[in-house]
Amino acid sequence: MLKIGLAALTLITASQSFAQLQNDACVAIESAGTGQWWQGEAAIMGTEIRVELWHENEILACDAIADVMAEMRRIDAAMSPYIKSSLLSQLNSKGAKEFVPVGDELFGLINRSQGYSILTGGAFDVTYASAGRYYDYREGKKPDSDTLREAVEAINYRHLELDHRNHAIRFHHDHVYVDLGGIAKGHAVDQSIKILRGLGIEQAMVSAGGDSRIIGDRLGEPWVVGVKDPRRANAQVVVLPLMDASVSTSGDYERFFEQDGVRYHHIIDPKSGDSARSVSSVTIVGAETTATDALSTSVFVMGVDKGIELIDHLIGIDAIVVDGSGHVHMSEGLMPLAEPKMAGVL
Ligand code: ADP
Ligand code: MG
Repeated sequence: MLKIGLAALTLITASQSFAQLQNDACVAIESAGTGQWWQGEAAIMGTEIRVELWHENEILACDAIADVMAEMRRIDAAMSPYIKSSLLSQLNSKGAKEFVPVGDELFGLINRSQGYSILTGGAFDVTYASAGRYYDYREGKKPDSDTLREAVEAINYRHLELDHRNHAIRFHHDHVYVDLGGIAKGHAVDQSIKILRGLGIEQAMVSAGGDSRIIGDRLGEPWVVGVKDPRRANAQVVVLPLMDASVSTSGDYERFFEQDGVRYHHIIDPKSGDSARSVSSVTIVGAETTATDALSTSVFVMGVDKGIELIDHLIGIDAIVVDGSGHVHMSEGLMPLAEPKMAGVL
């Protein structure tokens, strides 16, 4: 269950543009008791990484932030499909021919991804990229119908064979391509929180784009996380007071282009290889960011009814879904917060 408090102290919203990020700067943002709140930001994994933590000592605080940034870079180097030397790129280039050893961490994350594929009836599927790789949202490019038809056949988590003893993976289809964009940022945030806890830090927030995790409170009050209105800049459909929680948002407004009145964005329905279009944003709240990240992408593909039904069956996980007409839907655990709401679409 969520811990719900009243005071709104800090709102997590994108405060600066990506280009303005002060890579690896560490700054004091607020005095509190015997210490201060420290903040660091960097551009890693194609997104904005933000760390805020409370500490009494400047050097230890800034070292902790640097450790988090190093962890994010380490995970990116192993799991990015765009970095040629990454373990994931090795799997993608050789997996159709042979078992490729991928190491404990990547194996574990792909294994966990397979679990989400089973749980969501295939809505979450890291092989979505067999088709997803042919879209370029910045350039406004999409695959032609022949390419798409062939690529969709390669989308199926069952095409991956996992060798649990050797932590190796192979593909059972020639054109499979794996991308962990729907879960790797969540994993990186969980890893970062583990590092901070290991350093004795008890109050912190780490976020990687739309995936955030909070430990402890903020000056004795919950953090207040705003869920963006998918169609109105700087507006929120709801604010969530959170302590010791993870929150992930998947939206169709982050990376997209429009062609002939159709919005093409980065969340792909594995059945069609095309963007999922029944909702415009999904926010998931839970304990671990790996779970909230994978489930926000999953519920986006599943749509309101099936998605919320799934979330209502999962203990400690809640969802806020903004549908295509701007209506806001919440899972049972959030009903105390619910009142009739519309996002600014109409
Ligand atoms: P982001 O924080 O990058 O916006 P989301 O959590 O919204 O990420 O997930 C979108 C990302 O997930 C896409 O950029 C893509 O890498 C990946 N993805 C897209 N469709 C699927 C899918 N059906 N299953 C698993 N991953 C997906
Ligand atoms: Mg996600």
